Amino acid sequence: MKNISIFGSTGSIGVNSLNVINNLNLNGFGIKIAYLSTNSNIDVLLKQIEIFNPKGVIINDKNSFNKIKSLDLKNIEILFGEEGLVEIASRDDYEILISALVGFAGLVPTIEAIKTGKRIALANKETLVTGGKIIMDLIKISGSELLPIDSEHSAILQCIVGENDKTVSKLIITASGGPFRNLDKSKFKNITVEEALKHPNWKMGKKITIDSATLMNKGLEVIEAKWLFDVNTENIEVIVHPQSIIHSMVEFTDGSVKSQMGIPDMKIPIQYAITFPDRISSDYERIDFQNLQDLTFEKPDYEKFECLKLAFDSINSGGTYPTVLNAANEIAVELFLDSKIKFNDIPFIIKNSLDNHKNLTNFEVSDILTIDKNTRKQILEKF
Ligand code: MG
Repeated sequence: MKNISIFGSTGSIGVNSLNVINNLNLNGFGIKIAYLSTNSNIDVLLKQIEIFNPKGVIINDKNSFNKIKSLDLKNIEILFGEEGLVEIASRDDYEILISALVGFAGLVPTIEAIKTGKRIALANKETLVTGGKIIMDLIKISGSELLPIDSEHSAILQCIVGENDKTVSKLIITASGGPFRNLDKSKFKNITVEEALKHPNWKMGKKITIDSATLMNKGLEVIEAKWLFDVNTENIEVIVHPQSIIHSMVEFTDGSVKSQMGIPDMKIPIQYAITFPDRISSDYERIDFQNLQDLTFEKPDYEKFECLKLAFDSINSGGTYPTVLNAANEIAVELFLDSKIKFNDIPFIIKNSLDNHKNLTNFEVSDILTIDKNTRKQILEKF
């Protein structure tokens, strides 16, 4: 029997996670939901409470928190905001935390959860992007397991299971290329929010969908992969694979390459992160190879998608540069979603923040928090 909590249960990963838990319970797992959290989507949360009967919930938005409080729900603990997330993260009355928070907000609660030694199924890539070294050092001390939910990292994990780490020569991370792969760069300034929110293969939240359109998502995944699998960035290759059937590949020292394939469906990597190292049967959609069209590959265009290049530059420069990259990107994406800047301003803003940053090579969580805050502030002062 396992108890699972989900931070960000009303988002795309959270909802898929609850579907996976239903499937596992059909397979006799008897999983109980300990805690759920949402930012402000209380309609969905209330339905989840009714179905899964959690011990407690955390609500990040003050108005939404007050609304839930006023409902006078019985037998359920209701906590507020980041303090609530940190409090629940540090409890040990459940064994797995699915961390599907959006953005930098995932960092501190994830660190607290790692300290307890529980398994973390991580969908929040910003945590490793900003705190990679700190997190991986903590994992070694606490004995906590960090299992990726991101499809690319789950694919890499599935390729290296049973292999000797020393025989891994290259990680090959696939990218769909997003909706603007074939659009001329001169037209990027006219891209609307609506167009950028249409991902060709995956249904996801807004932030990650815009990151997929700029290819920043792939850049964040490169940084995430570096930390998760302890590989240098020169041994990480990004390849555009528009069909999103191969979720990533690993090349070994003998020249052999393994890939993990599947229909784009987050339920598969989520389930693997929960049941690892076991596989549990499901009725999720299968690849139909008889009718599968071409699987194609192309080089990413680093000039057109500057965000991907900025991500490589920031991790190669190291220190706190990735924290600045991430903070500037989060704010730039928000500004774009609010129609305050153009699509092609996103890399411009990020580059400007990176250029103005005084790097720290030795740093703690408190430094990351300060740099994140200042980077956001400096950008927002201009808009
Ligand atoms: Mg991904």
